[in-house]
Amino acid sequence: MPLRAVLDGEQTESFAYVPERWAALKASYKSRSLVTACCGERAIPKVSKRGTQFFAHARRG
Ligand SMILES: [Zn+2]
Repeated sequence: MPLRAVLDGEQTESFAYVPERWAALKASYKSRSLVTACCGERAIPKVSKRGTQFFAHARRG
């Protein structure tokens, strides 16, 4: 469950977002450059069942 990503070339951390900004990112990330910090795979902003904001990998393998 990656918590760090690179958004438009800038390091970003999912836990630093207030819910309103996280929702805005979820609405806009497809038209921006968002990749995970761990491997550079395309990332998707998500919220876990426990309410944790995180970046999911767009695909594995
Ligand atoms: Zn990764």
